[in-house]
Amino acid sequence: MHFMWQVLSGCISISATLRRRGIACDPGCARCEAEEETINHAIFRCPPARQVWALAYVPVGPNSFPTESLYANVDHFLGSLNPGAQVQAFPWLMWYIWKARNACVFENLMEKPEDVVRLAVGEAFSWLQAQVKEVEEDPIPVPNPACARGVGRLGHLPTSYSGYRCFVDGSWKVGDVFADAGWVCSSFQDAFTTRGAANFRRSLSPLHAEVEAFVWTLRCMIGHDYREVAFSTDCSDLVKMVSSPQDWPAFKTYLDDMKMDMEEFSVFSLSLIPRSANVIADSLARQARSSSQHVLFVNDFSAN
Ligand SMILES: [Zn+2]
Repeated sequence: MHFMWQVLSGCISISATLRRRGIACDPGCARCEAEEETINHAIFRCPPARQVWALAYVPVGPNSFPTESLYANVDHFLGSLNPGAQVQAFPWLMWYIWKARNACVFENLMEKPEDVVRLAVGEAFSWLQAQVKEVEEDPIPVPNPACARGVGRLGHLPTSYSGYRCFVDGSWKVGDVFADAGWVCSSFQDAFTTRGAANFRRSLSPLHAEVEAFVWTLRCMIGHDYREVAFSTDCSDLVKMVSSPQDWPAFKTYLDDMKMDMEEFSVFSLSLIPRSANVIADSLARQARSSSQHVLFVNDFSAN
């Protein structure tokens, strides 16, 4: 991303950089009392920026975050083993924090940290979704006796389709206290995006976590009164289970509940997508897991 390169190479105009070039200006931060506003301060350390990172559930590593080092802070998100690696939206978070800083400095506008997070994650999601379209596999249509309009097949939907598309993911590992669920839902008609994350009591297995996440997501969609929904998951067993419930007697209780919930939808489909395409839902689920407390949020980023 071009912006990231500018940040790391010191090309962003900021008082500390300008003074280094001999241009006189107020070195202090316009948003807090800091005596020097560096790029690291503006994007990571300044209180409103810290709030954004906290609201985006950026995990904190052994050396904490955000540190005094710009490079350490960016590195926090890079490399698959670094604590922030799952936060796919981090370049967008950086960019929108920077835009919010400029709105404050140049227009005296104070943007709410939760709005900054919502915008950044929404943009990241749209971008990632655009990448997904290339690799998507054919959905497995699930027959729904109550379905008035037939099963919606992604890519074969009528142009007037006014429904929603929902990515769902569950995660759980042996030893974890909670299993986690995340979903991201967007309308086909406008850019409006809703998302949710929750953690549950420990599941019996990772597959149970996927199933519980899906049941919770179905109920969230019904709660939002979204009745035309094309769901996507990266769990192939979940897709098999929903299309042939009779083959999964061990999950009968869940599947009976699911069947009743599915009948609430006028258009329903569940497609298998590659794991790489399910990053945002996965990241929401993992962020819920990294929290030690019970987290449940829908369409906002405050815990509880
Ligand atoms: Zn500041």
